[in-house]
Amino acid sequence: MRLFDAHNHLHDVQFNNNQHQIMSDCEDVGLIRMVTNGTSELDWEAVSTLAKRYPQIIPSFGLHPWFVHDRSPNWLNLLEQKIDNYDSAVGEIGLDRRKRNLRYNEQEEVFLSQLQLSTERNLPVSIHCIKAWNQIHNLLRDNPIPKRGFLLHGFSGPAEMIKPLTELGAHFSFSGSFAHPKKARHRNIFCKIPTNRLLIETDAPYQPLPDNCTTHPLEEKLNHPANINSAYKIAADCIEIPYEALTDLVEENFLRFFGD
Ligand SMILES: [Zn+2]
Repeated sequence: MRLFDAHNHLHDVQFNNNQHQIMSDCEDVGLIRMVTNGTSELDWEAVSTLAKRYPQIIPSFGLHPWFVHDRSPNWLNLLEQKIDNYDSAVGEIGLDRRKRNLRYNEQEEVFLSQLQLSTERNLPVSIHCIKAWNQIHNLLRDNPIPKRGFLLHGFSGPAEMIKPLTELGAHFSFSGSFAHPKKARHRNIFCKIPTNRLLIETDAPYQPLPDNCTTHPLEEKLNHPANINSAYKIAADCIEIPYEALTDLVEENFLRFFGD
């Protein structure tokens, strides 16, 4: 089996330096490439350290909307250096209008400077978007974007945004957490995504799957990237295509978007 995790945070401190065991579990389920996303200046080093150790990891560096207020005056230079020193992607970047106590006004500016870094280098960029679908669509429509398009990770937007975003170059990743009964809307929306734009992700250690779908349980209900196997199965059921057909399709999409 050849599986691909389009979005995780393997370097996260919640994994308690247990990454060696985790990578061995991932190998056992056939997870051969994963995109590990940094979210602020504080964790970029941890991402690059892991990527040096494990060739399965595609490092990705970005400033997440939750951490925009903590950035240093030199953040963009530091990010540019990281991106240019590693064969990396850009992300996780984005817009979030749901989380309380988060100022929105600086998010667009920070998002656009990072989008520009990825566009100038035609790098894959991973985008987090919560309750800002019109804003993200308009920013991506009105600004230069990478030729290869962009990834909307854990896509939870409205069905009517799929077509305009696809036309702009969107790829969409399906999260294993969509198996939760209360996420039926997310599952149904995924059936409408063009199959050549579909990717699968865990977002581990975040977005845990329901207990009955978790093949690799961890303490504190942390998500394990080896649960990707389950995420593929859930996606195959929901899109109603055979598991093997989905793995072929996702491999093709992943390698085209993230490179091989
Ligand atoms: Zn994430």
